[in-house]
Amino acid sequence: MGDYQKQNVQWFPGHMAKTRRLIKESLPLVDAVAEILDARIPESSRNPEVSKLIGEKPRIILLNKCDLADETTTRSWIKHYAAQGTRAIAVDCRTGKGLSEFRPVISDILKDKIKSNHEKGMTGRSIRVMVVGIPNTGKSTFINKMAGKNKAKAADKPGVTRQNQWFDIGGGIQLLDTPGVLWPKFEDAKVGDKLAFTGSVKDEIMDIEVIAQRLLALLKVSYPGRLFERYGLKDIETIEDHALLEMLAVRRGMLISGGEADSERAAVMLLDEYRGGKLGRITLEQV
Ligand code: GDP
Repeated sequence: MGDYQKQNVQWFPGHMAKTRRLIKESLPLVDAVAEILDARIPESSRNPEVSKLIGEKPRIILLNKCDLADETTTRSWIKHYAAQGTRAIAVDCRTGKGLSEFRPVISDILKDKIKSNHEKGMTGRSIRVMVVGIPNTGKSTFINKMAGKNKAKAADKPGVTRQNQWFDIGGGIQLLDTPGVLWPKFEDAKVGDKLAFTGSVKDEIMDIEVIAQRLLALLKVSYPGRLFERYGLKDIETIEDHALLEMLAVRRGMLISGGEADSERAAVMLLDEYRGGKLGRITLEQV
């Protein structure tokens, strides 16, 4: 278990207890929940408590950063969630790709509610959606993109905790940012690794070489072709993790005095390139 995991396990429960309370308090104020996941790691970027917390509230899943994820796998995830009764859409909140689907899907999943509002003459009532997601999934990017010029209009409402910020996104919809911080499932080492690969955990609190070796080990199995295309690494099935990282360093001419491989530099380079999409679109979790 890496240091960052040990460290996090200790403060995880306290933080989650507060978030749990804040989400529960705000839930009656919203009509639906938008759960933002990282399309590269849909399950690891999901907080397992969200489903329990939101219960029967209608939900939409946003598979964000779809520009970095494998398109075919993203489609499989969308089908998978649909089979479980949840609508999911693939989005790239940085460019706005896919976001035009958001309002129509929200209207669709809430059509009965909207109809009954109309029948009761409550036509002016906004639809309110709580945006939830673990840190770094792109919540702020999503809200800013949707709210556009209206983001400045966000204001506290009476009766709502001070942390609660509402954003008018037009079309009669308002967004509420996650009340509190929703922590990922750090205590699961595999989840911790994937969050580290994608850059959702601060690099300073982990062993970068170990993380890079584990990423290589995963890519070696799932995307060997990409390692060959980008770094010329081949016939690597039986090469042990640390040796592979050294091989990568040598390929890139990263040597320290004495001609030894600079595996730390290679580790930083690999993680940067993976996160920046230089190895192509890669999803680390299959349905
Ligand atoms: P938050 O912690 O959930 O509010 O996440 P942010 O909105 O701060 O986003 C975290 C990082 O992910 C930032 O560097 C964003 O620019 C980046 N990001 C957000 N959405 C996307 C996306 O769709 N594609 C890519 N490539 N990067 C994104």
